[in-house]
Amino acid sequence: MFAGLAASMRSMPTTLPELSSVTPKLTAFPVFMRVEGRRVVIVGGGDEALAKARLLAQSAAAISVVAARPERELVAWAPANGVAIVEASYEPRHIEGAALVFAATGEEEADRAVVRDARRLDIPVNAVDRPELCDFFTPALVNRAPVAVAIGTEGAGPVLAQMIRARIDQMLSPSLGILASLANQYRAAAERLLPKGAARRGFWKEFFTGAPARAVEAGDREDARRAAAALLRDGGRAAGHVALVGAGPGAEDLLTLRAHRLLMEADVIVHDALVPEAVISLGRRDAERIAAGKRKGCHSKTQAEINELLVALGRAGRRIVRLKSGDPLVFGRAGEEMQALRDAGISYEVVPGVTAAFAAAADFELPLTLRGVASSLVFTTGHDLKGAALPDWAKLAIDGATVAVYMGRSTAAEVAARLAAAGLSPDTAVAVVENASLGRRRLFHGTLADLPSLQDRADLDGPVMTIIGDAVAGANFERSEPLAARIGAEAAA
Ligand code: SAH
Repeated sequence: MFAGLAASMRSMPTTLPELSSVTPKLTAFPVFMRVEGRRVVIVGGGDEALAKARLLAQSAAAISVVAARPERELVAWAPANGVAIVEASYEPRHIEGAALVFAATGEEEADRAVVRDARRLDIPVNAVDRPELCDFFTPALVNRAPVAVAIGTEGAGPVLAQMIRARIDQMLSPSLGILASLANQYRAAAERLLPKGAARRGFWKEFFTGAPARAVEAGDREDARRAAAALLRDGGRAAGHVALVGAGPGAEDLLTLRAHRLLMEADVIVHDALVPEAVISLGRRDAERIAAGKRKGCHSKTQAEINELLVALGRAGRRIVRLKSGDPLVFGRAGEEMQALRDAGISYEVVPGVTAAFAAAADFELPLTLRGVASSLVFTTGHDLKGAALPDWAKLAIDGATVAVYMGRSTAAEVAARLAAAGLSPDTAVAVVENASLGRRRLFHGTLADLPSLQDRADLDGPVMTIIGDAVAGANFERSEPLAARIGAEAAA
């Protein structure tokens, strides 16, 4: 057995590259080549040719594809993308005068012939999927023209290159190109008006991440110009800004790309207790973190203190992410924070997040609206039930709305009683999810009659979402436990 293993190990490469402190040299050096208006020729009419044409069409090169029998998809795609198709058998004259040539016939001999001709004519050539024949490689490209990020692996790992591309793509705002073009218009003014050094650097940092960037992102170029002019007048001094950001229900990958980008740009992250560490640590590593607390029973800061904190940080010119669980505008007290910021004249924005009701419904495969059964949806809380009056949503539940109850664990009995008093059948289906979206989530199902038992369950210490209504019957109960089981078990004991 060992002999076999040893033999198979002998056939593995024995000379792994040395890990040394010297950075290995690149065999291909990345450059950005001017191609605007110049001819780039692709030889071949199949998938390989189309893929290259798609990549190159992101530039202003004059692209032509030479193929005797171009495939239909290529023929359909080309005209709208400014690509000319030369329907002819390849001859050397087709590539004369080109700036770059691609051999993409899919056949080795034909590719070799193109490479030979190109080299004779002193034109750099790339043969698709034949690195040994290539004078240059094409990168995986993140395009925010005029900004481009090109990723190369010298042909070693196209899959790796695409993975890196995807990560960089999501880091960069979709409107970065527009912002970069706008920056060009301010370069001369910045050089004239701002002294070289800290002031000018501060101006550009604020230009690319502050008010001008936000205005471009919102699609308002006029506002962006005003913000840039004001920034020049203020000598590049950063103005504070607060982003009220929804962190989603807990799973890191339910954060939006915009939320992630803002977290990476933040100077300060002010977060609620429900936001997991894994989400907060997606933020800039050296950002200051402030826990604003607020879990039931352990209020570490009052709402007024949080408002004051945000205003003070904003006045100090900091870039603040106020990170709230779920969506910031759903039971997040964002209304009060926005009012305080407005009163203090501090700019802010709101970034939506996946609210707990949606995450719980997804975990349960529960249709929140169901054709012919439930056509409205109520987000409510078990918390501000006051006096003996029926809450107004109780009537909506009778009329067939699906009701999502936030913060409803400690008031489960009260909620059930109110709904029953309003006339909702005790058989109405109920779904409960603790820790929705997280690995440690627990799912329970039952009826309105079982709901009060939720209140006495000491084993549920995570956040709990309760969904009530006939649409709940459409959920998947394969992974949920009966809500009433424990009561039954305790009664039997
Ligand atoms: N803004 C948040 C809600 C804050 S109120 C949002 O949009 O989701 C806090 C309540 O949200 C909790 O008491 C609980 O009812 C619910 N909640 C938050 N995260 C949850 C999760 N992962 N699973 C279940 N319920 C959750």
